[in-house]
Amino acid sequence: MAGITLRGLSKSFSSRDSDVAAVSDVDIEIKDNSFVTLLGPSGCGKTTTLRLIAGYMAPDRGTIEIDGRLLSSPGSVVPPESRGMGMVFQNYAIWPHKNVFENVVFGLKIRKVPSADARRKVEEALALVNLAGLESRYPGELSGGQQQRVALARSLVVEPDILLLDEPLSNLDAKLRERMRSELKELQRRTGITFVYVTHDQAEALALSDQIAVMNLGRVQQYGAPFDVYAHPANRMVADFMGLVNLVPGKVRERSGAGGTVEIAPELAVRVDKLDAFSPGDAVEVAIRPESIKLGASPPPGGAAAGGTVATISNHVFLGNISEYYATLPSGLTLRVQTHPLQQFKVGEACAIEVDATLCTVFHAGAGEAKAA
Ligand code: ADP
Ligand code: MG
Repeated sequence: MAGITLRGLSKSFSSRDSDVAAVSDVDIEIKDNSFVTLLGPSGCGKTTTLRLIAGYMAPDRGTIEIDGRLLSSPGSVVPPESRGMGMVFQNYAIWPHKNVFENVVFGLKIRKVPSADARRKVEEALALVNLAGLESRYPGELSGGQQQRVALARSLVVEPDILLLDEPLSNLDAKLRERMRSELKELQRRTGITFVYVTHDQAEALALSDQIAVMNLGRVQQYGAPFDVYAHPANRMVADFMGLVNLVPGKVRERSGAGGTVEIAPELAVRVDKLDAFSPGDAVEVAIRPESIKLGASPPPGGAAAGGTVATISNHVFLGNISEYYATLPSGLTLRVQTHPLQQFKVGEACAIEVDATLCTVFHAGAGEAKAA
């Protein structure tokens, strides 16, 4: 059992000329046996949060509890080696002059585990990460992916309840990163260890996580399941960070029931199901995912006069599994659209355009994200 509770966690760094609020009022509940990702742009406080969880430093305010046991508070921190956690870093941090066995056995030696036991545990850890038989290789004789597996084995060998991983895949090339991604997910499922994973890569976070904490400026902007964070972003920062999005200014045209209609251009309105927080005339910003815009093969019968909206294709990018079109309305608004690659248009061609509101989110104009203190 290893659930982690962060309450009001805050940490600032002072330098000569300024104070940086690296982590501000972070409140998250990480369930036992789950895969949780801290996601956000560089400098948003991910590593600091992870180091606070690891016990490398004390918070200025707030607490960290594991299964209800207080491990960190401003005045007192249970040291890293007594927290039942392992940590994996981006740069692997394995010793080049020690072989695989010596690298992995290190944590057991510190804990004075008898050598026969230690050998068995190292073998088990290496088997877990598919490195069985490579005990006597040196890091220089291993690929980048194998080196990262050594780092993983080294943290798994001490049988942690919690594994903290700080951008562990970012030094690997794209193909290998994807393979290691599924291996990590599989490893989490098989071991039941609680994984706290840090990345700035939204695709990685979506693919791996049970829950994602999207961070910016030291604060958690949203904490939720991958689908919710993608489909129902809490603010424009989250909408923008979680993949591609058209962020378009608009105006509430009318309200009916819980929903209503939002106008994003004189010739294009979007029917939205959930608009309780808005009134007719409100200035808003609408986040529209490129895959939720439909292009029709030809202008609607009767064209704009018949109530359909016509756009002109102003640019096209073929990406293999999808096609991207830039569709420009007569009023000048250009929307980025993703379609199936078999749906083809020429640049300059007119087409019908429609927005499916399922993946649209409406924000009050000018509403930003939670700011640093
Ligand atoms: P991330 O891992 O999301 O890139 P960090 O947690 O490393 O972000 O950093 C958050 C902020 O705190 C940044 O502005 C960074 O410059 C600052 N910071 C981190 N560690 C220190 C430190 N030891 N001293 C001073 N500032 C720091
Ligand atoms: Mg970092």
